[in-house]
Amino acid sequence: MPSFTKTRSTSDDPAPGPRRIPSVERLVGGASPADLAAYGRIAFTGAIRAVLAGLRAEAGPVPEEAAIRAEAGRQLAAERRPSLRPVFNLTGTVLHTNLGRALLPRSAAEAVAAVMVQASNLEFDLATGARGERDDHVEALICRLTGAEAAVVVNNNAAAVLLVLNALAMRKEVVVSRGELVEIGGSFRVPDVMVRAGCRLREVGTTNRTHLRDYAEAIRPRTGLVMKVHPSNYGIAGFTAAADPEALYALCRERGVPLADDLGSGNLVDLAAYGLPPEPTVRAALERADVVTFSGDKLLGAVQCGIIAGRADLIARVRKNPLKRALRVDKMTYAALEAVLRLYLHPERLAEELPTLRLLTRERAAIAAQAARLAPAVAERLAGWATVAVMDCISQIGSGALPVETLPSAALVLTPEAAGGGSARRGAGGRCKRLAERLRDLPVPVIGRIQDDAILLDLRTLEDEAGLLDSLASLVSHPTAL
Ligand SMILES: *Cc1c(COP(=O)(O)O)cnc(C)c1O
Repeated sequence: MPSFTKTRSTSDDPAPGPRRIPSVERLVGGASPADLAAYGRIAFTGAIRAVLAGLRAEAGPVPEEAAIRAEAGRQLAAERRPSLRPVFNLTGTVLHTNLGRALLPRSAAEAVAAVMVQASNLEFDLATGARGERDDHVEALICRLTGAEAAVVVNNNAAAVLLVLNALAMRKEVVVSRGELVEIGGSFRVPDVMVRAGCRLREVGTTNRTHLRDYAEAIRPRTGLVMKVHPSNYGIAGFTAAADPEALYALCRERGVPLADDLGSGNLVDLAAYGLPPEPTVRAALERADVVTFSGDKLLGAVQCGIIAGRADLIARVRKNPLKRALRVDKMTYAALEAVLRLYLHPERLAEELPTLRLLTRERAAIAAQAARLAPAVAERLAGWATVAVMDCISQIGSGALPVETLPSAALVLTPEAAGGGSARRGAGGRCKRLAERLRDLPVPVIGRIQDDAILLDLRTLEDEAGLLDSLASLVSHPTAL
């Protein structure tokens, strides 16, 4: 069989020589009405031409007409597949930045859809008919949930930090502990953001120890801001010291310098109450800082955005800064964020209704039971590809939240089988990579993690069991050797 890989077409002329390639007219004329309706005659004809051009460029037998049409259909279907689409995140990382972080509750997704297909009062005061402020839709809720006096929303937490620095400390010094000059996610580095915001970094202390007196000596008239950065994705252990937060805040107030705290994960509730490792809440952070910045799509469980909450006079300066306009968010974000924040008004139901918290609080026993229940059905769909077993494993919260804490979970372990012609040449590692590729190629791709020549599917984040089995079922219809 020719490979059908070349796709450029320049003419309809039949190929010279003994090979008989059917005409475009004949192939399009014989196409099923369903194919023509699905793709349109113009696109279908174009795809047939592309397939024929590929055939002309190659030697070898000419496929049946039906096979040529089927290949054109396959190419069109592949072309029309959206680039951004749902996947099963079974990596064990609940807030996986590369897989879209927090999942919205359906109510929030519906709120987004509602304002997307119809006009909304985004910047319109329905009471007076005058112009409104887009932050008004969430500001009161944020204040109620965090104790802040005022709040603004921007594109993400990186933008929040940039805006706070620029609005409060442009052309001034920002005092930061050397232990907090962190890099988050590869492209957000505190010293770099500082430069872009037009501030001068004033490092104090050492990597492992910073004392109150280090701050006291560094603060001078040209200081615009003292900043604390939550060590989101690492922990320092051993001979360490940080300035007492309350004493530091008292020092800043005494010197008249605002204190900003970049929290990273915007945690609005006491996680310990839900059986999770404790993490400082925004409310607690605001008792020891003037301004707090945090993400909307980490522990808060909403959409990508950054929230700046704190003292009214400082938030007013942030709001007036021209960068706010450049970093502002769309109505989609406000709709989703407002819907999620409203769930926080009913804490007893939060662990059920907010997907992030629901997934994080799943008990190991329940996940293990789910794994045992699903294993036979998954094994059936993977017959010939892999054997399936159940194993205890450890999930992570992800996105820099609680980096050193982990959550006991259970996984399906897929061990690729050495079956079929090509497999003998591949090692176990190669077969594993190949199976992972096939799983990524499913209608709804399945993303696990590779460990010891097997693929682990951590079920902590699996809610749609039927959907997973459906997607895996299409492996059966296209068996190929690993
Ligand atoms: C995650 C994080 C950021 C970046 O937040 P994004 O919402 O991803 O832009 C900044 N600072 C800290 C401490 C973080 O944990």
